[in-house]
Amino acid sequence: MTERELVISKEEIHSRVGQLGKIISKDYQGKKLVIVGVLNGAFVFLADLVRSISIPHQIDFVRVASYGESDKSSGVIRVSKDVELDMTDVDVLLVEDIVDTGTTLHWLQQHFLEKQAASVRVCAFIDKHERRVKKVSVDYKGFVVDIGFLVGYGLDYAEQYRHLQEVYSLQV
Ligand code: 5GP
Ligand code: MG
Repeated sequence: MTERELVISKEEIHSRVGQLGKIISKDYQGKKLVIVGVLNGAFVFLADLVRSISIPHQIDFVRVASYGESDKSSGVIRVSKDVELDMTDVDVLLVEDIVDTGTTLHWLQQHFLEKQAASVRVCAFIDKHERRVKKVSVDYKGFVVDIGFLVGYGLDYAEQYRHLQEVYSLQV
């Protein structure tokens, strides 16, 4: 088994996700909130987050493919599954598992602005600073982690580890 080290416990995750849900519910009171999950990594975070949001909202998903070196975003991004709801004049909250270089989110923000969304904000489970290339504002963040390759709570390595209830740093 590959060596892994605990970074965030399930208790910490549970408590932080609950706080984020409360903040988002307050900030989006009276708005047309549409939560857009970025597949695949965000599905676990999104499932917990939406259940801690107390205001009405819709949910949709987008999936993007990025080409280049396998462990890094190349900057060449394409939508492999787009949202199905109409984004015109709605308040989009993009939900991501982790922001690394920022390339994906930077691109997605533009993509939703082009769809005439009224606003586009970002909620990321983890904000990882180590390799940031594009300036993106992460409006809501679960945790800030400086370094490491993280798995668990939706985050994978070769499609494994997504089911883990905690976040681990993997020695790859
Ligand atoms: P960015 O475009 O910000 O560089 O890429 C973000 C994407 O890269 C994330 O959505 C995720 O799929 C992947 N990624 C970046 N860092 C990590 C990490 O530490 N662990 C895992 N499992 N995926 C990561
Ligand atoms: Mg991702």
